[in-house]
Amino acid sequence: NGGGQDAKNLRVKLVLLGDSGVGKSCIVLRFVRGQFDPTSKVTVGASFLSQTIALQDSTTVKFEIWDTAGQERYAALAPLYYRGAAVAVIVYDITCPESFSKAQYWVKELQKHGSPDIVMALVGNKADLLEKREVAIQDGIDYADKNGMFFIETSAKTADNINELFEEIAKRLPRPPV
Ligand code: GDP
Ligand code: MG
Repeated sequence: NGGGQDAKNLRVKLVLLGDSGVGKSCIVLRFVRGQFDPTSKVTVGASFLSQTIALQDSTTVKFEIWDTAGQERYAALAPLYYRGAAVAVIVYDITCPESFSKAQYWVKELQKHGSPDIVMALVGNKADLLEKREVAIQDGIDYADKNGMFFIETSAKTADNINELFEEIAKRLPRPPV
């Protein structure tokens, strides 16, 4: 069928939103390539990557991942970017309270203008920087609970919880009728 969907094999558009520098591109590179490059520069140009995961029930989910080329700085461009997205991963940096506020802004924006059945995940990244933590884990949990989102803390650097993030999203996707 036109959408490339059947009950066993889903294909979904996933976007990442959040302040510049929170680690969105690093999360994608860790998930897709299993790499972390601490010297990587800010994303230049639009970037598109895909990765398929298999679930225990033998279904597969192909994530078509749109990484911003800094559109996060231009709120007016965001709707072009998240249009049609089945999944939004909203990322903040646990060492940066401003990025947590910005994440909340993106949640509200998607609740107003995103697809009605969008699956949203709230991600506190850089969890390896525990000694620099400035956003309590409970604040992330509470905010996500209130907004019906999945919450997880990750580290793109150590790979902690990166696969778990995408597996949990895959499990929460609405399934087309068989
Ligand atoms: P983006 O602008 O949100 O795409 O952020 P980037 O992925 O470009 O990452 C911004 C900076 O944060 C880079 O210097 C990365 O090396 C660093 N970074 C990303 N993820 C992590 C992480 O999990 N832990 C640590 N310590 N640094 C990270
Ligand atoms: Mg980036």
